[in-house]
Amino acid sequence: MNASYEPVIGLEIHAELLTASKMFCACPVLDVTEAEPNRAVCPVCAGMPGVLPVINQKAVEYALRVALALNCEIFETSIFARKNYFYPDLPKGYQISQYEFPLARNGYLPVITSAGEKIVRIRRVHLEEDTGKLTHVEDNGIAYSLVDLNRAGIPLLEIVTEPDLHSPDEVRAYAEGLRSVLRYLGVNSGDMQKGVLRIEPNISVRKLGDEKLGTRTEVKNLNSFRALERAAAYEIERQIALLESGGEVRQQTVGWDDVKQVTFTQRYKETEDDYRYFPEPDLPPLVVEKSWIEEIRRSLPELPYPRWKRLQQMYGLGSQEAAVLVAERAVADFFEDTVKLAPEVPARQVAIWISGSLFGLLNLSGKSIETTRITPELFAGLLRQVETGQINQNTAKTVLAEMFETGRSATEIVTDRGLTQISDETAIARLVSQVLDENPAQVQEYLNGKTGLQNWLFGQVMRLTAGQANPSLVRQELNRQLKVLSTTR
Ligand code: ADP
Ligand code: ZN
Ligand code: MG
Repeated sequence: MNASYEPVIGLEIHAELLTASKMFCACPVLDVTEAEPNRAVCPVCAGMPGVLPVINQKAVEYALRVALALNCEIFETSIFARKNYFYPDLPKGYQISQYEFPLARNGYLPVITSAGEKIVRIRRVHLEEDTGKLTHVEDNGIAYSLVDLNRAGIPLLEIVTEPDLHSPDEVRAYAEGLRSVLRYLGVNSGDMQKGVLRIEPNISVRKLGDEKLGTRTEVKNLNSFRALERAAAYEIERQIALLESGGEVRQQTVGWDDVKQVTFTQRYKETEDDYRYFPEPDLPPLVVEKSWIEEIRRSLPELPYPRWKRLQQMYGLGSQEAAVLVAERAVADFFEDTVKLAPEVPARQVAIWISGSLFGLLNLSGKSIETTRITPELFAGLLRQVETGQINQNTAKTVLAEMFETGRSATEIVTDRGLTQISDETAIARLVSQVLDENPAQVQEYLNGKTGLQNWLFGQVMRLTAGQANPSLVRQELNRQLKVLSTTR
């Protein structure tokens, strides 16, 4: 990137809310990637004339949870508005949204970036409804589109930041941080492949030191962090190159082509006037009582950022170690539960075993920490055996893998398979001398000064015991016997 420019980015994120029913009718919220099309449709969400919407209280509660978690100012009275436009996925010809008077404004979210902490200001949080879903088909040269209204009317929360982000890395950190908060709050699954969380970065660049913001482009509907990061990086480079060659950035909406890894023009700027916003005449103002807001505030869980700070302080974890654990609430819970159950195991060890071996098994199997058979009890049992030297690290990995498959305890697996660590000093001394006897050539070379061979000999002892010997005892004993040989030679 040309260092005389500064990228400026603000994000709009749309999150579907995990309510049982839609925003303004009683239709169920279905998984639109799995349900048969048009199974959850009624006259209200199909936009029939004469029907009346009714506000979903649960959706308001969820929106308030998010707004409070993002430290926003809540407006006790907010107004739904009609955003008018024509598109086949919008049966009413307008979307009910909030415009001049959103539910919440002026918040902030602290995020953890690779360069440190950063506060991202939240401009507004408002409620709206999702649109239907179009599938474009081409059949024997005839192109047509299929409309699925299962999604039409699903509660949607729009969260808009101030233009506070300055790199693709920061953009990603914010988006990941927000997703994590939504999941902690239980209001969104964060399942981006299903389209329930969609990200739209607004991107501009300006000369370093300039006050005035450059002209922005808006990338529509990204549904992976990788696409977000790449699209942002691409737009930044494109705009800088354009300006450097004497051109001008045109305000526009662009799409991201994930195959070609480029952005492409969708439409040039439409102004707010184009939507002819006006207050929704079929709905009263939304009034939320102070006492309800306070009740929701009190019910919020500990959020990722404060938890990240606490884990570092309480357990002496590094910032990255803690960040890995708090990204998901279930992982952080698993960590803290394990630490409680195995107080004799250092907390950092627990963290390392989770983010290393356990995550490895989860990734391979495609399971989540909630769906695995490994519980904090089982995990604590395993780590306790390592801590007390009953098994060594290598054996523990084998045991963990079996535990992962079967849900059996470490004690059972170790006993059944005879995996107990060999810590008996006489036994180890015997094994070491056996290896030295069987490898006279290597021993000779060692004695002639090829000291690197000590590691090789160590490996032979470990192999002889299928990795079950206590490695530090083996090292000590090997050292001792080699020293004896070199002095008696
Ligand atoms: P809309 O896109 O609906 O017109 P806004 O004007 O409020 O909405 O802006 C949407 C997002 O774009 C916000 O996140 C805001 O911070 C960001 N934004 C606005 N102007 C710029 C700019 N010049 N460069 C980068 N981001 C911007
Ligand atoms: Zn409906
Ligand atoms: Mg926009």
